[in-house]
Amino acid sequence: MQVTAIIVAAGRGTRAGGDLPKQWQMLRGKPVLEWTLGAFKAHADVHDIVVVMHKDDIATGRGNNLCPARIVPGGETRKASVLAGLNACPQGTDRVLIHDAARPLVSASMIDRVLTALETQEGAAPALPVTDTLWHGADNGVTGLQDRAGLFRAQTPQGFHLAPLLAAHEASNADATDDVAVAKAAGLHVAIVPGDENNIKITHPGDLARAERLMGQQMDIRCGNGYDVHRFGPGDHVRLCGVEIPHRRGLQGHSDADVGMHAVTDAIYGALGQGDIGQHFPPSDPQWKGAASHIFLEHAVALAGDSGFAVSNVDCTLVCEYPKIGPHQPAMKAALARIMQLDANRISVKATTSEKLGFTGREEGIAALATVTLVKA
Ligand code: MG
Repeated sequence: MQVTAIIVAAGRGTRAGGDLPKQWQMLRGKPVLEWTLGAFKAHADVHDIVVVMHKDDIATGRGNNLCPARIVPGGETRKASVLAGLNACPQGTDRVLIHDAARPLVSASMIDRVLTALETQEGAAPALPVTDTLWHGADNGVTGLQDRAGLFRAQTPQGFHLAPLLAAHEASNADATDDVAVAKAAGLHVAIVPGDENNIKITHPGDLARAERLMGQQMDIRCGNGYDVHRFGPGDHVRLCGVEIPHRRGLQGHSDADVGMHAVTDAIYGALGQGDIGQHFPPSDPQWKGAASHIFLEHAVALAGDSGFAVSNVDCTLVCEYPKIGPHQPAMKAALARIMQLDANRISVKATTSEKLGFTGREEGIAALATVTLVKA
């Protein structure tokens, strides 16, 4: 199964207010389109993304963080734009998810529901049953009632098998407000999967503020811990949290034995549910012998970014009798901040002795503990 998401962002709608089309309006510090794209980028079952843009927006699109999406120019109508997107799907695509750029709150579970239904269905689309009473009206008056039984509010992403949907688009001349209409016209069956009230389409003024409120409620925070120990051996310095400290002994290890940085790195892998340093940089691999530990930490931070997370804060505790850590704390915070591209006030490095108890008390080695929080960027 090779899934491509097609994000339809070619509209010029400015009903949401402001001079910019809604997909370019700012939501929590980045354009709506970037949020929408992020939801598909972060989904493990979505392999490629095509963004269909108005030709006047393509330069803006290339200036934003839309990688690795393919950007293609849209057509005069929504249907023409979707067709351009379908024709731009990478070789091997067999399923497509077509999604409105103005629905930035689409969840991973919504994408899952559509893809799962596509295993057995020709098409699948989310929708919510209409629960409000419906009226017909004219001239500010009610002229009649509409039975709401069997009525649904359609959402996206709408999922299809690529070849039959492409054939349906090519066979149909009429414009359509969504792809279910095109598929139905070609005789395809489209299953309804449960929609999500939070999957709002930014259309009117006030929708951006509503999306912001919903995002606040959906904040995704991950916490991870890390623990590491390295033993003392011959040497004249130790490296702790990126800072070289003169000492009458050194720390032994396959890499540079920076026990503090290893604990922080493992905490990030832990928060991501992505194993530990040993898994990503096996000690059995000679290329990591003597490696500088910032390589590991940079990898973990990049992996968090690839998964849509940013490090929010770090707390690292070093456990040793000697060397004394206090004088080096500011330099350690600065070193971690530089490597993690994080504000130093979001980093804590502290130290304790173990009251001369245990292996750290007997000065056989140094232990480090770290806690890290990640937030969905
Ligand atoms: Mg280690």
